This record gives sequence, C-alpha cells and structure tokens, in this order.
Amino acid sequence: MGDAKRRKQASTEGLQEARRENFHKGFNPAERVQLDRVIDLAYRNTRSAIAHAREAGDAALGEAALAAAHARSAHIQDELTEQFLASGAEGERIRSEIACKKGCFFCCHVNVEVSILEAIAVAAEARKDPAKVAKVLATAPAIAGLGAKDRIGARVLCPVLKDGACSVYEARPRACRAFTSFSAGRCEEELLNGGGTEKFLNFGWPRILSAAASHGVQQACAHDGLQSFTVELTAGTATVLGDPSAVGRWLAGEQVFAPYAASEPD
Ligand code: SF4
Ligand code: SF4
Repeated sequence: MGDAKRRKQASTEGLQEARRENFHKGFNPAERVQLDRVIDLAYRNTRSAIAHAREAGDAALGEAALAAAHARSAHIQDELTEQFLASGAEGERIRSEIACKKGCFFCCHVNVEVSILEAIAVAAEARKDPAKVAKVLATAPAIAGLGAKDRIGARVLCPVLKDGACSVYEARPRACRAFTSFSAGRCEEELLNGGGTEKFLNFGWPRILSAAASHGVQQACAHDGLQSFTVELTAGTATVLGDPSAVGRWLAGEQVFAPYAASEPD
C-alpha cells in the first residue's frame, strides 16, 4: 500500500473511531455494551468475509462469504431487538402496538440506505430468480438519483417485493428489519401522500442497532481499502447484478459503487 493510500486509510479510521464515540452519546452503560458488541461483531465478520472472498478466487464463493457476514450481523440485530421486546412491560407494550405484518408494504416505496455488503447479500438472493434480476435491473434506472421525497413521490416499489411480500426476506437489509410502525394507516398517509418517514417510526432501538452494525461494516471496509460508504439498495443491487466482475473489482479496491445520495463518500 502506498503512502497516500495509507494516509487516507488512517484518516478514514480516525473519522470512523470518532463516529463510534458518537454512538455512545445518550445511551446508558448496558446499551453502550450492546452497541459496542454489534459494532465489533460487524467489524470482525466483515473483515473475515473480505479475506475469505479475496482468497476464494471464485465470484460465487466470494459473494456467499460476504452475504453470510451480512446474515450474521442481521441475526444479532434481530436477537437484540427480540431481547428488548421480551425484557419487560415497555417491550411488551411496544410489541403489542407494532402494526407491521406480511402483506403490508407501504414502506417498500422508499430509498433504503444499505452497506455494500447488504447490497451484495440481496443480489446473491435475487440472482436465484432471473425474473427478479431483470426487475432489479429495470427498476434501478427509473429511480436513479432520486432523493428520499422524490423516490416516495415516484411510487416505485422495491424490485424484490413480490406478491406483496419481501422475496429476499432472510437476506433483507438491516434497515428493513428495523423499520417498524404502530400504524399502517399512518404509513400509507405519510408515505403515499408525500410525507417523510421519521414521524411514525416509533421504535428506535433496532434502527440504532442497525446504524451500529453499519458503522462496523464501514470501518472494516475502510480498513481493507475498499469503498466503505452506504449505497441505495436498488442501485447497489443492480451494480452487483449488472456486472459479474463488480464484486471482484470492489474487493480489489476499485471504485465500483455510487454512494447513497445523503452519505459522505470516502
Ligand atoms: S412500517 Fe408501516 S407499511 Fe411497513 S409493514 Fe410496518 S405498518 Fe406496514
Ligand atoms: S428488501 Fe424487502 S423489506 Fe426491504 S424494501 Fe425491499 S421488499 Fe421491502
């Protein structure tokens, strides 16, 4: 690695560490322990998956290793969310009020900010069905560059939604797992009548866990000299599905993905 690249990596790591400190603000010691656990697991899983994928020398095996790392960080998020919901009266109240269920998908009209690893995991799942691949590739240009409000206004559904349900459910991004509401009617009103999402997302802990995992993934990618920013789900998935060499080139440090509109590039 050259001096310039090393300097850039050191400065990115410094920035990432400062962000980790930010995660602690406003949380009690027990919550900080959980957040650190999520960050560290995501970091270690991602670094190990990148190493495996680089060694694999086979696109499918490499993709599978990266998808498995996403599955592990999604699992820990699900587990800690469930732990919270089962931990007492407040958790039980929230559980009883969550309106989300299969067949409800107003929330699948939004831009979804994901790590590159998540885009790779969703692409790996979508690749199993050529119709799904075609849908992702056809949808990406239709929503390219749309900001959050314009994307909602365009009323374009996520291309992996099939028959009213998420067809990549096990591999779905952490943000989708974290997106919950106490009122489907409110979702319809806010999302389909041009509103934002923040007003009705009533259960914040899974979203914080998701952001912590994303931080760990980004730290790991930056450490290994890879594009580490977040991407829009459909755009990132289309990048992977549209070019068989995309993941390999990303692993080699090439600039393959376009950053999520609201996120800072490396
Ligand atoms: S977030 Fe809203 S639209 Fe999405 S599943 Fe839950 S209630 Fe339905
Ligand atoms: S990945 Fe699944 S849950 Fe997420 S927006 Fe797409 S269809 Fe909805």
